[in-house]
Amino acid sequence: MFPVRGVPSTPSVAPRADIPPTVVVVGGRTVHLHSLGGPDADHLLKRIAADVGAAINAVVAFWGEDWSRDISVVAAGTREQFLAAAGGPASQWEDIAAVTLVERVDPVSRQVAGQRIMFAPEASHMHEGALRIVLRHELFHYAARADTALDAPRWLTEGVADFVARPPVADVPPGAVPSPLSLPSDADLDTPGEQRSVAYDRAWLFARFVADVYQPDKLRELYVAACGVGHADVPTALRSVLGIDADEVLKRWREWLRR
Ligand SMILES: [Zn+2]
Repeated sequence: MFPVRGVPSTPSVAPRADIPPTVVVVGGRTVHLHSLGGPDADHLLKRIAADVGAAINAVVAFWGEDWSRDISVVAAGTREQFLAAAGGPASQWEDIAAVTLVERVDPVSRQVAGQRIMFAPEASHMHEGALRIVLRHELFHYAARADTALDAPRWLTEGVADFVARPPVADVPPGAVPSPLSLPSDADLDTPGEQRSVAYDRAWLFARFVADVYQPDKLRELYVAACGVGHADVPTALRSVLGIDADEVLKRWREWLRR
C-alpha cells in the first residue's frame, strides 16, 4: 500500500460488472483497467494506461520476468468504494492512495487469485511524478505477491517497493533517520499521517542503502530471504545475504546516511 504521499489480504468488492474493463497489452503483459465509475476514475485509468508499460519495465528490471502476465487495476469512484474493497477500519486507510488486494494467496504453491491494484479517488489528483511512484510501488507488490509470505516483515516489503518505485534522489527526508539508529519496524507503518510517511521513508532508505552498497541483486536476495516463504528473521537474513550481523549493518547504514 502507499500513503498519499501493503499488501493486506481482505474481503473484496468486485468491480462493477456493467462497466467492461479496458484492456491494454504492454511489456508482454495484459493490463485490465476497471473503473468503478465516474469521470475522475476514468481519467485516472487513462493516465495509468499511459505509464504502466514503464512501470512493468521498472519492476522487471529489479524482480525479473517470472510473475503474473495479467495485471488488474481498479479505480474507485468514491472513498466509500475504496474502503469497502480495502476492508478493515476506515481510519487505517485515511491517507492511503492505493493498495494491492488479493482474495486468496498460497505462497507455497505460488497461487494467487483475485489480485488487483486498487486506487483511491484521491490518486486522480496526484501529479504525474507522484502517481508514477504509486503505480510502480503497487506493481512491485503485485509482482512479488506469489513469492511473499503472509507474515513477511511489512516494513521490508514496503521499503523494497519504494526502492523500485522512487527515483534515487540524494536528500534524506527530514525525520526519516532516528537517533539512535535502529532497523525500521512494522509498528511504525500503522499510524496514519506523518509517522507513517516517515516510516516509509526510513524503510526506503534502508533498501536504498542495501542496493547502493551491495547492489540491487543483493536487495532482491534479502527480500526473498526475509520475506519469502519459510523466511528467516531479519537479522538471520541479513547475516546470510550480506554476511554481517545486524549491528554491523546498522553501523554501515549510518555511515552511508552520512555521505
Ligand atoms: Zn506498499
